[in-house]
Amino acid sequence: MHHTGSCLCGAAKFTVTTPIAETYACHCGMCRKWSGGIAMAVEVPPDGLTVDAGDTIKTYASSEWGERAFCTACGSGLYYRFVAPGPQHGTFYLNLGALDDPGGIPLTGELFIDAKPDGYALEGDHTRMTSTEFFAMVEDSMKGEG
Ligand SMILES: [Zn+2]
Ligand SMILES: [Zn+2]
Repeated sequence: MHHTGSCLCGAAKFTVTTPIAETYACHCGMCRKWSGGIAMAVEVPPDGLTVDAGDTIKTYASSEWGERAFCTACGSGLYYRFVAPGPQHGTFYLNLGALDDPGGIPLTGELFIDAKPDGYALEGDHTRMTSTEFFAMVEDSMKGEG
């Protein structure tokens, strides 16, 4: 079964053709401002996402290694895409909330836990990674690619 999703107004529609096993939350300041809350995403390989949006999707380069796509008609954030060279090049991090049915996808991790506002917390037994731990992991995976 393929997951489908869209932006709020429906101008941008997409289909995920690869299985979705898990979701994670990112508390970094960029994801927080972009999403307006807790950013939760699912990882989709470069060839796993089919987008049907005409020219309503625009991307914003939020850093030198990533861009964030949004609908120009309704403003919904859709996905973060890794654009730097390396093993994750082209990978999509699709917003969980953009899926038509986000149910049944377990939360397996939180990133930038040290940046999480102290007024709320996500329950459950899952990985909680600090910004320092996250950057160390990213550096390791870059090295792995040679
Ligand atoms: Zn829209
Ligand atoms: Zn983030």
